[in-house]
Amino acid sequence: MKVLIVEDEQHLADGLRFNLEAEGFTVELAADGKRALEILLSENKEFDAIVLDVMLPEIDGFTVAKKLREAEIFTPVLMLTARSRPEDVLQGFEAGTDDYLPKPFELSIFLARLNGLLRRREWFQREKIFTKNATGANDLFEINNKIIDFKNLELRSEIETIKLTLMEAKLLRHLILNAGTAVSRKTILEEVWDLHEDTDTRAIDNFIVRLRRYLEDDATNPLVLQTVRGIGYKFVSAGKS
Ligand code: CA
Repeated sequence: MKVLIVEDEQHLADGLRFNLEAEGFTVELAADGKRALEILLSENKEFDAIVLDVMLPEIDGFTVAKKLREAEIFTPVLMLTARSRPEDVLQGFEAGTDDYLPKPFELSIFLARLNGLLRRREWFQREKIFTKNATGANDLFEINNKIIDFKNLELRSEIETIKLTLMEAKLLRHLILNAGTAVSRKTILEEVWDLHEDTDTRAIDNFIVRLRRYLEDDATNPLVLQTVRGIGYKFVSAGKS
């Protein structure tokens, strides 16, 4: 497993590298956002996960995450935030990060989160809950003439293919598995995304807005991802009535 650590605090970066290498990871360091983008976009190096500090000189972590997403690089990102800034979490999710860890953190928690991120992706790809694709794997779901491909984290229509982040895919999957039932914002935060802190629930609403743009024929009049007032959201299979 290869991990890129983007962190300007040298002692922290060295400490994480030392411990990850002891766990068998291959580690590369970038001391600022500019260098991280060089490694990922210019040198086209591939990693299994990226550990990304928010507060970086020159180009910050949010911008790095956004640029990766724009370049269609969907390597899982664990964002390191300042504990005093919960708004960082919201901004990080909007930029396309997969999980976050507030500083300062215990090494054991860091390793658990990183391994969780890597495992979740594998587990997610192995799930056998959706309809078979041409090769017999049960990881496709069709709605509104669009195919959600949970193996490749893609949403395909006749005109375009959109890459989904792990967080978007997890939210969609949970709503589909509970189709017809209202899923609360609390459930989404705590059970779908494993967030236990006081995350701003606007994060969810912003995800839904984006998923509606992908899925709905008319995003201003959503039929698939419906709002349930005072509770949360409900997935409804369209065109089945
Ligand atoms: Ca920093």
